[in-house]
Amino acid sequence: MSRFRIVLLPGDGIGPEVIAAAHRVLETVAGAADFDLELVEAAIGGNAIDTVGDPLPPATLRLCEESDAMLLGAVGGPQWSSLPAADRPEAGLLRLRKHFELFANLRPVTVLPELAAAAPLKPELLRDVDLLFVRELTGGIYFGPRREQGDGDDAFDNAFDTMVYSVAEVERVAHVAFQAARRRSGKVTSVDKANVLASMRLWRRTVDQVAEQYPDVTLQHILVDNCAMQLVREPAAFDVLLTPNLFGDVLSDEASVLAGSLGTLPSASLGDGSRGLYEPVHGSAPDIAGAGIANPLGAILSAALLLRYSLDREAEARSIESAVAAALAAGYRTADLAGVDDVAVSTDELTELIIHHVAAITSPASQSSQDTAKLRYNTEHFARGVGHEETTR
Ligand code: NAD
Repeated sequence: MSRFRIVLLPGDGIGPEVIAAAHRVLETVAGAADFDLELVEAAIGGNAIDTVGDPLPPATLRLCEESDAMLLGAVGGPQWSSLPAADRPEAGLLRLRKHFELFANLRPVTVLPELAAAAPLKPELLRDVDLLFVRELTGGIYFGPRREQGDGDDAFDNAFDTMVYSVAEVERVAHVAFQAARRRSGKVTSVDKANVLASMRLWRRTVDQVAEQYPDVTLQHILVDNCAMQLVREPAAFDVLLTPNLFGDVLSDEASVLAGSLGTLPSASLGDGSRGLYEPVHGSAPDIAGAGIANPLGAILSAALLLRYSLDREAEARSIESAVAAALAAGYRTADLAGVDDVAVSTDELTELIIHHVAAITSPASQSSQDTAKLRYNTEHFARGVGHEETTR
């Protein structure tokens, strides 16, 4: 029987709460599957700073190097915000992404019919919204040369960050976007600011060159400011959005409101091999940490992406996605999503319901029963991402 090692990185704030939920779901899936999961926890972020003085301790990195995939909650919080940039919790996450050269961040944003009412946009604008952000993750302004006051020399009175892109960095992430588009509607929208920024003119030129290898995919370019507007004006007009690091960070958070709540969205960060880092799109939400109300769906659906992309277990990924859809269809939601007609439940209660549905879907005894058929919701919404073989190359 195959055995996979997954490193769980709960992190800070609500991170441990949502990772505990994903952990239980993964154990349930593995219990019914023909593979074993070894789930080991490691420290990252603020709690790692507090315990060992480093947001990415060497012991954590070692465990990650020996793993098949990593599942992270979130890092950061106000108690660490006065530290120098290089010592903050977020620095640990940036180092982890860079260490494994996880250059492509996939963020699917789908609007499930059950959650359309939870979004602030008119329902007619949300029909058929099914986006995939492919965000460049290890380059651009988050990694370029910078100078900051407090980094040892306080004599200067300015600070700067630098957006640097090489042709090779743009090419590799553009290939991911074009290959994903081939499995979807065959359309890529590349986001840049080529009217003002030199790095973005290189971005646009390089994407055009890569596009020549994909004559079956339609490419359009859009300036980031216009994209921010069109995403709420006509979101269904987009399919695959290829973005530089900074723009993808901002736009995918904006797009998350289409799906009802930041708490529902998963992501996958992939490089050249099969080992990936999976994390909900949301942050550590210090305002609700410890209250037991965090939405665990982003973390649970990230676990599904992990099964799909790093372990190549499509059936098990779909069983989780089906179970999530079933719990939502039954009207259960955490507080961030609950409307007047919904049943507001805690993190643990929603997790319990999803586990119940996963167990029903994966249990051999119930595979053919009518009850199970009812639980098998159409998961095309979730599963239309990109194929494992195409993204991990
Ligand atoms: P956030 O995503 O933590 O929270 C934004 C809002 O969404 C808050 O009102 C929060 O309560 C709500 N929210 C987020 N996730 C939720 C969930 N699962 N269920 C219910 N409600 C949820 O963003 P922020 O407040 O800007 O950042 C807080 C901290 O998180 C900061 O330190 C920031 O640096 C860090 N952060 C970390 C990551 C990461 O680890 N990848 C990403 C973004 C922000």
